[in-house]
Amino acid sequence: VVVVDHVNKHFGDLHVLKDINLTVGKGDVVVVLGPSGSGKSTLCRTINRLETFESGQILIDGQPLPEEGKALAQLRADVGMVFQSFNLFAHKTILQNVTLGPIKARGQNKAAAEKRALELLERVGVAQQKDKYPAQLSGGQQQRVAIARSLAMDPKVMLFDEPTSALDPEMINEVLDVMTSLAKSGMTMIVVTHEMGFARRAADRVVFMADGEIVEQNTPEEFFTNAQSSRAKDFLSKIL
Ligand code: ATP
Ligand code: MG
Repeated sequence: VVVVDHVNKHFGDLHVLKDINLTVGKGDVVVVLGPSGSGKSTLCRTINRLETFESGQILIDGQPLPEEGKALAQLRADVGMVFQSFNLFAHKTILQNVTLGPIKARGQNKAAAEKRALELLERVGVAQQKDKYPAQLSGGQQQRVAIARSLAMDPKVMLFDEPTSALDPEMINEVLDVMTSLAKSGMTMIVVTHEMGFARRAADRVVFMADGEIVEQNTPEEFFTNAQSSRAKDFLSKIL
């Protein structure tokens, strides 16, 4: 569903995405690994059109990314994104956080949006918190709400950019468990993470980036036991 085709992007003189080619099929789970500054977040943000790019194309279900306007809003609804910081609306309840998008962007009526939101909050294990405000929840709970909020838009693909790296250790697994079950349920996912356990158990493919390039991609088994490039071997020796 997601095709990144010869994409190049600069920040001034810095060539931050160098001829990136990546195809993520329906239901595929791709984990993006790489050293700090290698362009992982920029790639996610480019796929979501939070960043522009200079050449190449990105297709979602065969359609090029729109530049602006209504089509761009539709794209943002189709491409869910969960960041390191939870970005919930502080002055809305948990339930309102999840229903807002479907009501505003998808035109759902309130009752239908609430019904679906409660199912999703149940699924991520925070339904009991529905009437609280984000600040009253733990970081792990807030991140699970953020996932539910994205899912409420029925996205075609979900992008995760280090969703657990701002969390206290004891909360990481509750978020990874939700992501793992989402992966098993057939969601198409692109996940930037340093959680190698998640990569091993949930990823169909690992994409390794360094210096703005995709250096290699392989199954997790092959990548972790038999990395080919010196940059990947060097990266793995530091984190494993
Ligand atoms: P990390 O693991 O630390 O999150 P990353 O792989 O996500 O790193 P990016 O955030 O994509 O890396 O950044 C890639 C490069 O682009 C870095 O050198 C960074 O300094 C630079 N960069 C990112 N955003 C901008 C920006 N808005 N303006 C200028 N340079 C930027
Ligand atoms: Mg990043």
